[in-house]
Amino acid sequence: LNEFELIARYFQSSQYSDDVLLGVGDDAAVVTVPDGFKLVTSVDTIVEGVHFPNNSAAADIAYRALAVNLSDMAAMGAIPKWFTLSLCIPTIDETWMNGFAKSLNALASQFKVQLIGGDTVKGPLNISVQIMGVVEQDHWLTRSGAQPDDLIVVSGKPGEAAGGLRLLMNAHSSLHDSHHEQQLIERFLRPVPRIALGRELRSIAHAAMDMSDGLLTDLKKLCFASNCGARLQLDDLPKSSLLAAMFDPEQCEQLILNGGDDYELLFTIPSASLQQLISISNAIGVRCTLIGVITAGDQVECMRGNEQVTVADSGYDHFK
Ligand code: ADP
Ligand code: MG
Repeated sequence: LNEFELIARYFQSSQYSDDVLLGVGDDAAVVTVPDGFKLVTSVDTIVEGVHFPNNSAAADIAYRALAVNLSDMAAMGAIPKWFTLSLCIPTIDETWMNGFAKSLNALASQFKVQLIGGDTVKGPLNISVQIMGVVEQDHWLTRSGAQPDDLIVVSGKPGEAAGGLRLLMNAHSSLHDSHHEQQLIERFLRPVPRIALGRELRSIAHAAMDMSDGLLTDLKKLCFASNCGARLQLDDLPKSSLLAAMFDPEQCEQLILNGGDDYELLFTIPSASLQQLISISNAIGVRCTLIGVITAGDQVECMRGNEQVTVADSGYDHFK
């Protein structure tokens, strides 16, 4: 298979709407942004041994490459529309390519995002996806709009993905046969982009972001961007029975606060919007948990009951 045949075989994707005027095959793609909308774009690269364990299945790598980008669209309140794929692979292995393309196309079709171009080169395995979406004029979400007294909310069960990764990396358990183990590993391998939640949050959230590096470190980023502080109630963090089954309570709290790889949304709302959030959460079936409040300060304080406690922030930083 040469490069041209590879692209033709694996990356001629389905068309989901007529806004793609020119897709894969030309020198560049041409798309239409509907009137009243703005283009939202983001890129994320994933590298073997850094973002996913060495020798991960091609299907898992493809899912992750697109899912983390969809998650960025969710955090912006955008509708994901198109993406490009830069694929750096050491060899053309057809079994690997099949697994990769099948998984990529399945997730793309689930969210109706169309592959419109890319680049294919030989080298150490790494995959870069650039995603493009659209959002109603002046209604995108940002990290910078949080205000004192806002409620801090998190979707899903942060920490589970990191727990799953830990199990996956555990050399002793090559057979992950317990149900709990499998579910946690699934949380790491198949994070669900919170697109529907992001769309709904446009009407109520003051600030939003998706969490990839750890709840504590990501909350600090949101606070920094918004020029405010936060008081986090450790007792209110969403409890995971899966984590509790596999890790001791202290490890569970560490995974929740510093785990990373969650791809859940972290956002703030004015307390007056609480009822609306409850309706949204019920309507779309995504658990949302209040975990604290935004303060006028510039620190993120962690509280256990009425007492402030010090928690190490060991969130992910590539260069630390
Ligand atoms: P160029 O030489 O102009 O960079 P290429 O030969 O690299 O073009 O690519 C030819 C066409 O195939 C382009 O439309 C490009 O967007 C598309 N393409 C290349 N690699 C991929 C890929 N991995 N996924 C999707 N489209 C791709
Ligand atoms: Mg060209």
